[in-house]
Amino acid sequence: NNRPKLAAEINKVAEVAGYLWQKGWAERNGGNITINITEYVDDEIKAMPAISEVKPIGATLPYLKGCYFYCKGTNKRMRDLARQPMANGSVIRILDDCASYVIIADEPVNPTSELPSHLSVHNNLISKGSNYKASLHTHPIELVALTHNKKFMEKDYASNLLWSMIPETKAFCPRGLGMVPYKLPSSVELAEATINELDDYDVVMWEKHGVFAVDTDIMAAFDQVDVLNKSALIYIAAKNMGFEPDGMSQEQMKEMSVAFHLPK
Ligand code: 13P
Ligand code: ZN
Repeated sequence: NNRPKLAAEINKVAEVAGYLWQKGWAERNGGNITINITEYVDDEIKAMPAISEVKPIGATLPYLKGCYFYCKGTNKRMRDLARQPMANGSVIRILDDCASYVIIADEPVNPTSELPSHLSVHNNLISKGSNYKASLHTHPIELVALTHNKKFMEKDYASNLLWSMIPETKAFCPRGLGMVPYKLPSSVELAEATINELDDYDVVMWEKHGVFAVDTDIMAAFDQVDVLNKSALIYIAAKNMGFEPDGMSQEQMKEMSVAFHLPK
């Protein structure tokens, strides 16, 4: 019986949604979450009828045939989802054409407008044999602020700076922070740029918009964003004290990588 496991995953989504609101990262309907729940879906759920018409994804994603996802609803608030995940999100089934889906749930809540990015990312993860099941898009204030300066958009500049603020950031966000130049929200172009960048990183910035993070579950994806934003806060605190922070030295960073067996 996989129902308790499925319920546990949805409970984690609700818990994280509450944190996103408390952190000020989820104004109005800001941000979205999707979870690949295919492994927890039993025959009873598979037999559930569609409660929506067939809707196009906007892309053809061959690895998603017959997969199931929990998705935050478009225009739904994280602070509401924290209390009522099934009234502010829904479960979708990907159809055999791999290009469309139906909603199967008690309430016909339309999935997030960022569905092209989320589903393209899940398709890419499955194609690579990844065990990552969760994707998170949110609007963390300080990380978004960094992307309003060209210097921070240069490859690995922000990554190295944030890693150097406190040792844990490199340990717990070991692949660093990727950068996706500005693209229209919910566009297929944004989805494509995101999957390319996620080949090298678990967390990527959408310039002047937000972050997109992936991990085994939603709690772990949230943690990666949280440690990066913590580093951004330390950087800003030092700047507010009137100086440029020294950062850990290259030797100290290398020592961390060796001790924690980090990839970079
Ligand atoms: P949704 O309400 O459609 O999930 O959109 C929120 C958002 O952050 C778009 O980038
Ligand atoms: Zn957004």
